[in-house]
Amino acid sequence: MYCPRCLKTIPEDRISDITRELKNTLGNTMLEKGKCPVCGTELISAGKPAERHEKGSL
Ligand SMILES: [Zn+2]
Repeated sequence: MYCPRCLKTIPEDRISDITRELKNTLGNTMLEKGKCPVCGTELISAGKPAERHEKGSL
């Protein structure tokens, strides 16, 4: 998953771990709802390269 605002990527296979950790430590359920736990922006599935702007090569 990818946050277009924070420009952060969360590996799909770690989502459940991170979700649980955030919930237990901070009571933050944003990630559980598919949103960035930092800014609340809806996360984009990293599996789909839907929007690829020309911005470096990754
Ligand atoms: Zn964010």
